[in-house]
Amino acid sequence: MPKVVIAGSMNIDILSTMPRAPRAGETVNGDTVAFMPGGKGLNQAVAAAQQGVEVAFVGRLGQDAFGDQVESFLRSKGIDTGGIVRTTTSPTANAIIFVDKSAENYIVVIPAANAETSPEDAAKLEINAGDVVVSQFEIPRPTIAAVFARARQAGARTVLNAAPALDDAPESLWADTDILVVNETELGHFAGTEVSGDAPVAEVGRVARTLLRRPGQTIIATLGVRGAVAVTAETEFLVPGRPVKAVDTTGAGDCFVGSLCARLSAGDELETAMRYANVAASISVTRIGTGTAMPTADEVRGALA
Ligand code: ATP
Repeated sequence: MPKVVIAGSMNIDILSTMPRAPRAGETVNGDTVAFMPGGKGLNQAVAAAQQGVEVAFVGRLGQDAFGDQVESFLRSKGIDTGGIVRTTTSPTANAIIFVDKSAENYIVVIPAANAETSPEDAAKLEINAGDVVVSQFEIPRPTIAAVFARARQAGARTVLNAAPALDDAPESLWADTDILVVNETELGHFAGTEVSGDAPVAEVGRVARTLLRRPGQTIIATLGVRGAVAVTAETEFLVPGRPVKAVDTTGAGDCFVGSLCARLSAGDELETAMRYANVAASISVTRIGTGTAMPTADEVRGALA
């Protein structure tokens, strides 16, 4: 059975709500604090596993209680954690998130163990033809490049979610990517232009086309409430957004990517997998949280019917 292999980040998110964020030098009393597994890699792995496919994870955690929490959470979701290295030289990564009364958020990410994820970590993992190998920009670029080169040698498909859009990446990585998934901000960043949230779909498609490096590649731009557009050398199509009452869009992109990879590994054509991922992500925005908001295959099929 083809599987989804995720080489990516894992955090414990420390989420605190407060009337207002402190100013420099100030202390305020907060209302709540929660410690929840997060990180783009972990969120996408959960989204994929919820669709009932086999998922294996490659990444690093510290040898600490947060690392134990993350690892047992992944196992509880049926994810293969054999490719996770517990490092002694960094703690488990954290995202420290302040949310104030007006729902404005302030986020600090400490990459810690994620930044140590190395090409050797993935070398032990079995990658076979038909597998879907996915990564994001929360682990070192050379590690992603090494994993993708191996994946392509093995005849697996590679999916790069180029998020967050911070620096650029080695040219070899773009060339080894079969499907690139970006939101409008990331698309603008990597294309070297501005893409506004209300840019016409045809304009988004035109910019996305500039990121194509070789035949056989696909660029998917997610458009929030408007859905997602896919561009290849030969075609371009829009999967329109599914109208829902959104309460929290955090992690929508991760739900889209994880569900997309799950369906591709199960053998769906790209457009079918995108329609599925679009519905899965639309369900996730009707729920608070990230990992806890990812829908199951039954829920997605119910909404697709
Ligand atoms: P985030 O950073 O919030 O996780 P993102 O910016 O990476 O998200 P988006 O383009 O906002 O990604 O959303 C990803 C997908 O989620 C969209 O392509 C769409 O399928 C779905 N989606 C997002 N927002 C909505 C919404 N308000 N209603 C319905 N579907 C949505």
